[in-house]
Amino acid sequence: MEFNLGDIDVSQLANLDKLWMAIVIFVLFLWLMCIIYVVKDISARTDNQFLQIISILFVTFLTPIIGLPLYRAIRPVWYKRDKTPWRDACLASSIECESCGCLNPKEYDCCLQCGKKLKLKCKECDKEYPHNYHYCPYCGAPNLDA
Ligand SMILES: [Zn+2]
Ligand SMILES: [Zn+2]
Repeated sequence: MEFNLGDIDVSQLANLDKLWMAIVIFVLFLWLMCIIYVVKDISARTDNQFLQIISILFVTFLTPIIGLPLYRAIRPVWYKRDKTPWRDACLASSIECESCGCLNPKEYDCCLQCGKKLKLKCKECDKEYPHNYHYCPYCGAPNLDA
């Protein structure tokens, strides 16, 4: 009876090759997904091109295992959308109550939570404006209490 070692070895090797091939393709696929994630994430966080390029290089060449933690360490904490002007506008259009910290619409004269007066009377022109303004918006007189 003849036993052909060569045939068995070749077919086993071929199977092993296929397995390795599948693993390599899977890992490369995950790697690619990590790169796509970083590209999307960093462009949502900053317009700084230097930071963008460094982040993509990190995850591309240092592998995601090293690159992703590094990326998380250097990326800006805030998304760009969290720093948009409307947020500042919201804050600018409200008055923070001095005694309880509650944010009130600018039109309110008294705090909706504790009832304290939110506005003061200008010493120059007698008009009322929010206590936290540094200058009277009507006549420009400085608010000495702010
Ligand atoms: Zn209050
Ligand atoms: Zn005034």
